[in-house]
This record gives sequence, C-alpha cells and structure tokens, in this order.
Amino acid sequence: MTDKKDAARARLEEKRIAKEKKEQERDARLDKLEQAVEHLTVALPLGATPQGGTELRRLEALVSQLEETIAEKDEALVGALAEVKQSADAMAQTNAKADKFEKENAALRGRVAELESELAAKQAELEDTYSTADKHAEENSADETEDLFVVECPACEKEIPVTESELEQEAIRCPECGEEMELDLDDVEE
Ligand SMILES: [Zn+2]
Repeated sequence: MTDKKDAARARLEEKRIAKEKKEQERDARLDKLEQAVEHLTVALPLGATPQGGTELRRLEALVSQLEETIAEKDEALVGALAEVKQSADAMAQTNAKADKFEKENAALRGRVAELESELAAKQAELEDTYSTADKHAEENSADETEDLFVVECPACEKEIPVTESELEQEAIRCPECGEEMELDLDDVEE
C-alpha cells in the first residue's frame, strides 16, 4: 500500500510541477508580449513623445481628411456618373423624341402634300365650274346682245339674220347678194 501511495504522491507532484511549469511558460510569454509592446511603443517615435502625439494626430487628421476626400470624391464620382447617366437617358429620350418628331413630321408633310393636291384638285374643279359658268354667262349675254332679228333683203328677198348691234346701224350689206340695204325697224321681225 505504501508503494501505491508513494506512487500516487509522486504522480501528483509531477502534475503539480507540470502545471507550475506551464504557468511559468505562460507568464513568460505574457512578459515577452508586454516587452514587445513596450519595445514597439518605444520604437515607434510617433506617439512616444508629445510632438509624436501631435504628429500622430496630424497624420490621423490627414488620413481622416483623405478618407473624407475619397468619400467626397466617391460621392462626386457617383454624382458625376449619375449626371452622365441622366444625360445619356435624356439624350436617348431626345433621340427617341427626335425620331418620333421626324416620323410625325414626315406624316404631317405627307398629309400637307395630300391636302395641297386635294386643294389643287378643288381649285381646278372650281375654276372649271367658274369657267363653265362664265361661258354660260358669256353665251347667255351673247344670246342677249346678239339676239338675232330677221330682215328681208329688198334686193334678193332673202331673210337675213341681223344682230341687235347691226340694227343700230342705218344700213348693212346683205350677206346673200351683197347689196346694201337700209334698215327700217318697222320691217324687222323678231
Ligand atoms: Zn339681198
């Protein structure tokens, strides 16, 4: 039993020693880390002195300024890109509108041409109507002014058509026999 107890004690002692050793190693590592941090702090001149601190803050300010500038630049760039996109959209719209206008314009020009030819046709029709009316009017007036009367030629005894204007003359030449005859309104038959 004693041997067993001794053996157990020995194992416990071993474990205790091992644990102590681990703790010492851990402490050593922590010390080394602390030393490294201290060393780094000393090694870095910035922040180690009041001037360094100022310099560090100046650098930090510069970095944050740069960051802001970059952010602003980004914003500006994003804004510029948005503007470019808007412009492109506007141009695309304008082009589409221009196309539409051109099509509408062409359609309108076509319609105008149609209307012009329609108008020309109407004008021609009207002119025809008017000239026909004029002709009728002329014919009518001719009928009126040149209403024919009939006189008998005293020489050849033919019936001669005489216009009203001829009636106003005192004498006319007979178209049948060529003799000049005096016109007496009493002889005239309508
Ligand atoms: Zn005659």
